Amino acid sequence: MMKGSFPLGEFQGRKTPFYFYDIPLLERTLDAVRSAVRDRPLWQVHYAVKANANPGILRRIAAAGLGADCVSGGEIRMALEAGFAPESIVYAGVGKSDWEIELALEAGIARFNVESTAELQVIEEIAARMGRVAPVCLRVNPDIGAHTHAHITTGLAENKFGIFHEMLPEAVRMALACPHVRFCGLHFHIGSQVLDMADFVALCNRINDLTARFERLDLPVGDLNVGGGLGINYEHPNHLPIADFAAYFAVFKRHLHLRAGQALHFELGRSLVGPCGSLICRVLYVKQGATRQFAVVDASMTELIRPALYHAYHRIENLSSDLPERLYDVVGPVCESSDVFAKGVSLDECRRGDLLAIRSAGAYGESMASCYNGRPLPGSFLYGETGD
Ligand SMILES: *Cc1c(COP(=O)(O)O)cnc(C)c1O
Repeated sequence: MMKGSFPLGEFQGRKTPFYFYDIPLLERTLDAVRSAVRDRPLWQVHYAVKANANPGILRRIAAAGLGADCVSGGEIRMALEAGFAPESIVYAGVGKSDWEIELALEAGIARFNVESTAELQVIEEIAARMGRVAPVCLRVNPDIGAHTHAHITTGLAENKFGIFHEMLPEAVRMALACPHVRFCGLHFHIGSQVLDMADFVALCNRINDLTARFERLDLPVGDLNVGGGLGINYEHPNHLPIADFAAYFAVFKRHLHLRAGQALHFELGRSLVGPCGSLICRVLYVKQGATRQFAVVDASMTELIRPALYHAYHRIENLSSDLPERLYDVVGPVCESSDVFAKGVSLDECRRGDLLAIRSAGAYGESMASCYNGRPLPGSFLYGETGD
């Protein structure tokens, strides 16, 4: 029996909560990305591993030919194990430890996205000691505010990420003077869950200005990496399950003035894996409070922290009931008042044992899971896998 895209028969006997991944949807998403950039041989899309590092998901994305975008040594290891080629891996992060820099140099990754001149000096020293040359892009803080939640903007002057654009020429000169660093280009990332394409247009304009300034200063720009951030539709996961890649890439085709032979890199996370994942949980109790009715479920902020952390909205569906709808606060068992998935949402009437799907949870869900309150990590079910 199916409800929506959920094979309920296959859920029997599975321990809840678990992550359900719709692999055919992931494949269709990857196809959409590939076809949107098919006419641009110098454009490369990397997958931001932190969005979801489930080994089965990583293997699928590596097999589809995308590169990887990592933010730690652990992610570089996971990407290599999943089959990403080292020369497809880019590595960002404001605080790279020495062992992580060594691991990345050892593996022969494509790019370090360097976030400060202090980091540049450390990479130069470690590369010199190892007898290597580190390929480096400098991450620019473009001072652009993405219209998204304050916790997930990254491109403002006040954010910790990147080198402030006014200090950039000096940093590039420093990179060019490092014998064990090869300066390869500039990196940007303005934030996450960005739905207003005007934010990406602003990024293109900023990059065009920087390019002109660099040319006046006789400095090389190298390749460009515009990061990720494309948002998904959390309200309508059934009707709009694939992010608007055509509109996203069209912005860069139209507004970014690339020079001949200049490569362009993207780092997409949420838009690739968000829609294909749902957190499946069970109703433990229906509890009448003083003013509100609670559906207490066996999943919590330890499996999916986004509602508690960012007040994020996830659509919730009752997969077991066709009864008339009622209003619920859907809450987990963890001892935190913020352990709430949704307040006052309308669900088909819930009874103990019903299965609920918390939708669009494929990005920053499983990868952010914790063991707080002594809870085990959630399992996963990759549905509709072909091959392997
Ligand atoms: C998180 C991150 C991404 C991916 O962001 P999404 O919003 O998931 O697309 C890309 N680049 C960098 C540097 C990141 O930190």
